[in-house]
Amino acid sequence: MSSPHDPDHAESSLSTWLHAERRAGNEHASVHKPLHPSATFAFKNARDLVAVFQGAQPGFVYARQGNPTTGALEARLTALEGGKGTACFTTGMSAISATLLTLLRAGDHIVSSQFLFGNTSSLLQTLQGLGVSVSFVDATQASAVEAALRPETRMVFVETIANPRTQVADLGGIGELCAQKGLVYVVDSTMTTPVLLRARDVGASLVVHSLSKGIGGHGHALGGSVTDTGLFDWSRYPNIAEPYRKGDPANWGLQQIRKKGLRDMGFTLRAEDAHRIAIGAETMALRVKQASANALALAQWLSSQPQVAQIHYPGLPAHAQHERAAGLFTGGYGPLMSFELRPGADVFTFLDALRLVILSSHLADNRTLAIPVAQTIFWEAGAERRAAMGIADGLIRLSVGIEDVTDLQADLAQALAKI
Ligand SMILES: *Cc1c(COP(=O)(O)O)cnc(C)c1O
Repeated sequence: MSSPHDPDHAESSLSTWLHAERRAGNEHASVHKPLHPSATFAFKNARDLVAVFQGAQPGFVYARQGNPTTGALEARLTALEGGKGTACFTTGMSAISATLLTLLRAGDHIVSSQFLFGNTSSLLQTLQGLGVSVSFVDATQASAVEAALRPETRMVFVETIANPRTQVADLGGIGELCAQKGLVYVVDSTMTTPVLLRARDVGASLVVHSLSKGIGGHGHALGGSVTDTGLFDWSRYPNIAEPYRKGDPANWGLQQIRKKGLRDMGFTLRAEDAHRIAIGAETMALRVKQASANALALAQWLSSQPQVAQIHYPGLPAHAQHERAAGLFTGGYGPLMSFELRPGADVFTFLDALRLVILSSHLADNRTLAIPVAQTIFWEAGAERRAAMGIADGLIRLSVGIEDVTDLQADLAQALAKI
């Protein structure tokens, strides 16, 4: 190991992340990348304008396709994921929409985890209406993905830790399968953030994040991102349009997502939000580790409470994918857990008794949040889909924050005592 006095000492990614914007040579020696709300950019001569338009020279032309503030955030996300490039979008959902709508065509087939963020599941149903077939499978086993493959399969989509039941996908097994079969492997790593998992290590072609969650962390900005890890050979992908089959094939996929998702669809992240997310992300490693430690302590404590019938948290040895999670994730098991109260207990009495924990639908915030799942975020899905996803009527989702864990435990204890 290198020591801090060692001339060859390798700087940690946390230090690099904190100093990245300053080192990039900011205007007026500003420590942060300044905010660039300008809608358009002016050129000194027509040749430069043309060179930037044609992509021969880096730069910005019109802010729908990007601005320097968002560009700085993209560069940092690329570094964090060890990728080739990143495109940012208004929300996590627009990042996923841009990826799926620009890379898939009618007649294609996609295999998706059946344990999905509800809105992503709904988006895939929209795609079915546009002529893309979707197979929803149990992604905790690569064999289930393999069994669903067809000649026209183009892509596999999974989440790392599923919301709300916390199933951990067979990330490495599916990565190997996708590499073998030449399939685009999209990993939504929102629940893990780059702190717990570098999705490139499990073979992801594209890593998706909702920046509104753990990366931004403060619940004051929405955003999304797609990072190309550089592992997929886009020259083998039939749906890349002619204008984007230029230069290094490793860049073709993101080129198309960026041009069509930002320029054509206009899912553009505002400079103001990119700035807020970048500031939030400076403390991401500290926050994610603290929230994960709090979540593990609460999960252990809740599992010994007589009023709790079932609890789902990958950090608990009883979790079906605990060993896999222990092997995959560094620094903890994330902030997300869900649990059911003992039969007959009134979920609403419990939730209404909470004082510190907030009743809210958001996730991976600094503050601890609770929500009854079946009646809210999975209400529209209907009873049948809920049953298939293992969502009981009494399921409560808890997204653990960075409060003092003894305060959280005291709050949950007094609420449990009321049921
Ligand atoms: C929240 C979330 C999204 C959507 O992100 P938004 O920024 O809210 O649009 C996508 N995937 C997962 C796993 C999420 O938790």
